[in-house]
Amino acid sequence: MTIEREQRICEAAVEEWSYESQMLQAIEELSELQRAITRAIRAPADRDNLHEEIADVEIMLMQLRLIFDPKEIDEWKESKLERLERRLGIRD
Ligand SMILES: [Mg+2]
Repeated sequence: MTIEREQRICEAAVEEWSYESQMLQAIEELSELQRAITRAIRAPADRDNLHEEIADVEIMLMQLRLIFDPKEIDEWKESKLERLERRLGIRD
């Protein structure tokens, strides 16, 4: 699937349901991912559910970017990645 199509679907979801509803859905998906990560640590062979829940959270994060300020999110992301880069000592 193209990123443009992913974006269109997420935009339609945000238009269809209220921001509050999508924020609650994001919380629910994050909780499901927490449980899937715990299960994956305890049973490393079972990764299907983990992958599904990561996908769910990525979809909800795309929607949260549409609801909030993607420019500000990108600025925070860049800042935090640069800090991580310094901690890792991999900056050129
Ligand atoms: Mg889920």
